[in-house]
Amino acid sequence: MAGPVKTEAIVLRSLRYGEADRILHLYTPQRGRVSAIAKGVRRARSRFGGRLEPFFRLELDLHEGRGELLTVTGAQTVEAYARLRTDARALDAAARACDAVGRLFETAEPHPNVFNLLCRRLSLLDAGAGAAVAGRAGRAGGGSQIQIHRGSAAGRAGALAFRLKLMLAAGLAPQLGACANCGEREHLVGFSGACGGVVCGTCEAASFPLDPGAYSFMTGALGLPLAETPGAGEQALGQVERAISETLEHHAHVRLMPAAAAGTAG
Ligand SMILES: [Zn+2]
Repeated sequence: MAGPVKTEAIVLRSLRYGEADRILHLYTPQRGRVSAIAKGVRRARSRFGGRLEPFFRLELDLHEGRGELLTVTGAQTVEAYARLRTDARALDAAARACDAVGRLFETAEPHPNVFNLLCRRLSLLDAGAGAAVAGRAGRAGGGSQIQIHRGSAAGRAGALAFRLKLMLAAGLAPQLGACANCGEREHLVGFSGACGGVVCGTCEAASFPLDPGAYSFMTGALGLPLAETPGAGEQALGQVERAISETLEHHAHVRLMPAAAAGTAG
């Protein structure tokens, strides 16, 4: 199907190529993950300006040839997420979000809900970065320490809630309503990546213990909008991350980066 293609896209990655070009890894609503080349984009007078950078939400004109790589012929900014770019923590979280989408949805299969989810995640990180800056400015005269809020978008809880929603979109959501091995509804004490969900006391052989806080975080995160991600303690979040990692490794053969940078609270 050669010819012009018009699509919205989020730039997942942007790699230098040759003397002045960039290869873009894009996530689109209707074509899944797409790679495209932007020629001459690193020249000072490129008509694309600085908008073919990671995390930009763009309206793109592409040309599809015979190869897998499309060519960028036009680009308009839909969202730049400018505040996000001023906050190292939000930038790191955005990079991990884009990496997770790229790894879990690496084909051309359309998942418009995943595109919307990624836009939502970037918006929340952008809004959170602005709030953090305002908070610091407000306290500037008081000499008080900068507070990092648990459960903030850029924290571990926000990252894990996003991953759980990606798993749901991929048909890999952990089974939480009953033992994933035998169907028992009571005494759910562990989590098994191999079984893909919680397990009861009788089936716990290949599982690790799951605290009530980790269980309620997962059910809450799957059922609520991203903006309402529940909080949880570090130990519970550690168990949630392990549950996600083991399920994805076992059922999708995908290994993700750690959900948050070392030492990131909430
Ligand atoms: Zn069981």
